[in-house]
Amino acid sequence: MTAPPTPAIKVALLDQSLVAGLGNIYVDESLFQAGIHPLTPANVLTIEQIADLNRAIKSTLRRALRHRGSTLRDYRDADGQAGSFQSMHRVYDRAGKPCRKCRTPIERIVLGGRSTHFCPKCQNARAK
Ligand SMILES: [Zn+2]
Repeated sequence: MTAPPTPAIKVALLDQSLVAGLGNIYVDESLFQAGIHPLTPANVLTIEQIADLNRAIKSTLRRALRHRGSTLRDYRDADGQAGSFQSMHRVYDRAGKPCRKCRTPIERIVLGGRSTHFCPKCQNARAK
């Protein structure tokens, strides 16, 4: 496999010099919501896809805040409460489990050294 000419959107979203502070889980969840494949080169996204992604990131972060973020391992918030967002994950850490939208098994790949989870059917924007 040869490297894409520009970073895959997933890698670009994790790049702290491009986007401040967006975590791995939220990138996977936002790309799923926007229907964008994580391997899509960042520079081939259409204006509409960028707008969808922008909306998806905002709504994913709002959802996560409502549920005190994700509790992976032993994270607790300032009140010592575990977050509950992980029970609402649509793709993150769900490899092999059925997509909540279309029942296709969620796939996992490693991109930019990070676990990346996506639905190969719902996130088909790469082919556009
Ligand atoms: Zn799906």
